[in-house]
Amino acid sequence: MAEHTPDKENLAELRSMLAERKTALLQTIRQELLTADQEHFQDLAGHVHDVGEESVADLLMDIGFANIHRHVQEIREIEQAQKRLAEGTYGICRDCASEIALPRLKAQPTATRCYECQTRHEREFSPETD
Ligand SMILES: [Zn+2]
Repeated sequence: MAEHTPDKENLAELRSMLAERKTALLQTIRQELLTADQEHFQDLAGHVHDVGEESVADLLMDIGFANIHRHVQEIREIEQAQKRLAEGTYGICRDCASEIALPRLKAQPTATRCYECQTRHEREFSPETD
């Protein structure tokens, strides 16, 4: 299983993947804030005559904040992963304490569970489950 365990080089790669993703997310949020600013909204609202201006504002703000909230959530996950990297606990499954496979970490550097535990977790907590 040694070939699936992240070595120093892999960890350096994952560390830079996390840093790059964080920078990209911060840029996206900045972009979203710019497009959600009031002047832009007023310009948009000027073209919408059939819908109450307030509901258009609510709609735009809701969309903007939902996106931003999701991005902020992902930044938090990245920061937690960076903390685990610094503490040396990165890549350990939080449920079964086994090592998370390297391909999974490369696909999702913020993963906190191995594939098996994540699948079980999603099954248990999915609202679709009956
Ligand atoms: Zn596990």
